[in-house]
Order: sequence, then C-alpha cells, then structure tokens
Amino acid sequence: MPPNDSLGGELRPTPRTTLRRKRDRGHFDRATINSVLDAGLFCHVGFSVEGSPFVVPMVYARIGDTLYVHGAAANRTLRALATGVDACVTVTLVDGVVLARSAFHHSMNYRSVMLFGRADRVVDEKEQLSAMAALLEHLAPGRSTDARAPSPIELTATLILRFPITEGSAKIRTGGPIDEPEDLDLPVWAGVVPFALVPGPAVADAALDEGVEMPAYVRDYPRWAR
Ligand SMILES: Cc1cc2nc3c(=O)[nH]c(=O)nc-3n(C[C@H](O)[C@H](O)[C@H](O)COP(=O)(O)OP(=O)(O)OC[C@H]3O[C@@H](n4cnc5c(N)ncnc54)[C@H](O)[C@@H]3O)c2cc1C
Repeated sequence: MPPNDSLGGELRPTPRTTLRRKRDRGHFDRATINSVLDAGLFCHVGFSVEGSPFVVPMVYARIGDTLYVHGAAANRTLRALATGVDACVTVTLVDGVVLARSAFHHSMNYRSVMLFGRADRVVDEKEQLSAMAALLEHLAPGRSTDARAPSPIELTATLILRFPITEGSAKIRTGGPIDEPEDLDLPVWAGVVPFALVPGPAVADAALDEGVEMPAYVRDYPRWAR
C-alpha cells in the first residue's frame, strides 16, 4: 500500500493535509470527500512548471478512488501533469455568504476538497472510454449513452489523465455567523444568504433536427442544484 493510501473508508492525514485552522471542519472519510467531488462541476488543477505556478480550471469525473481530467493532446497543462509533477486539485461549492454583526466574523458556507498527488496518462483504451463516459455523466447524468462515443482518432487526439484520490481532505462550513457574545445585541442584520449553482432551462442548438426530442435528463437538469 502506498504511504498515503486510504485506511478503509478514510484518507490517511499527512503533514500537508492536516488542518491547522478550524479542525472541526475537516473530513477525511471517503464518503464526505466523494460527495463533494460528485456535487462539484469543475475543479482547479494547481501545479508548478519551470518555477511558475499555474492553476487551471477543468472538468473532471470520479470513478471509485480515481479522478479523471481530459483535454486536447496538445494541452499544455495536461502534458505538464503527465510528466508526473506534483499537483493539487481543488473542488469548491459555495453554499452561502455569511453576514455577521462584526466585519471580522463574515464568512462563507462551503464544501470543498483539496487533493494532492501526481497524475498519469491513461493509455488503456477501455479505461479511456470509461473515463470519457464518466466525464459526460459528470456533466449530465444519462449523456454517455446518448452521445456518439469517441472514435479511435478522437481518442488519439485526447489526453486523459488519472489522478489518485489517496491524499486529501474535505472542509465544510455550515450554519450562521459566529459573532462575539458582546456583539449579539448590535442593531445589525446578521444571517446567511444561501447560494447554489442552479442550471437554467436548456436552449436547443440552432441546427438541431426538429424531430430530436429533449431527453428527460436535459429537461430535468434545472431541478438539480450543485
Ligand atoms: C469551467 C471550465 C472548465 C474547463 N474544462 C476544461 C477541460 O475539461 N479540459 C480542458 O482541456 N480545458 C478545460 N477548460 C479550459 C482550461 O482552463 C484551459 O484554458 C485549457 O485547458 C488550455 O490549457 P493550456 O494549459 O493548454 O493553456 P495555454 O493556452 O497553454 O495557456 C496559456 C496561458 O493562457 C491563459 N489561460 C489558459 N487557460 C485559461 C483560463 N481558463 N482562464 C484564463 N486564462 C487562461 C494563461 O495565462 C495561461 O498561462 C476549462 C475552463 C473552464 C473555465
């Protein structure tokens, strides 16, 4: 077992995943980490190349204990990650803006995950196809059985990386403002403005054949909030 691999349903904390502030908000169990990863829409991939840091937004998908990202074979970010540089992947869901009575205690409600590790290139065609299907399912559950599967040429033009979910943590804040007791009587409104990423109604492509019906997973998409 690699040193940072999971302990059953928990990720083993490491020096860089040990929460130093607000420890009670930290979670290492896979169920919590997976729930944030599955609810998120896209991630930010951070890495350093030739002394310069980059943080790049990307779509991802999870299969079991593996996170997949993909893009064009010429993609600079993916090519750099494929060399095995240390990377950090974050997923963030904003659940609310927390307005406290004092400026100091303003905050946000959120669910976020931070993963550390090294990516490697997926070369097995079966795994490539599974990853592509998972990426489509992550965007719209039900999509992978509808959309035309990638051709061998398209797969060659696509770089797919796998990132192990072995070292990382989730951090979650919920609830209202945590004001100082002496501020509770101040005549200042306090509370939470809830936030969610809510899809709007789908807009059909202008070139769509009139006979093609909108599938239920598209029609129902606006009901999902991430
Ligand atoms: C929500 C979201 C999801 C995305 N999902 C994917 C995905 O799944 N796969 C994928 O390949 N790409 C995705 N992209 C685009 C991705 O962020 C990069 O732009 C793209 O991958 C090109 O990467 P590169 O390293 O080849 O960029 P390069 O073209 O080599 O980057 C050169 C420079 O361009 C600028 N730049 C590049 N990307 C961005 C950016 N996103 N925003 C602002 N400046 C930028 C930076 O200054 C960068 O140093 C996504 C973008 C967003 C916002």
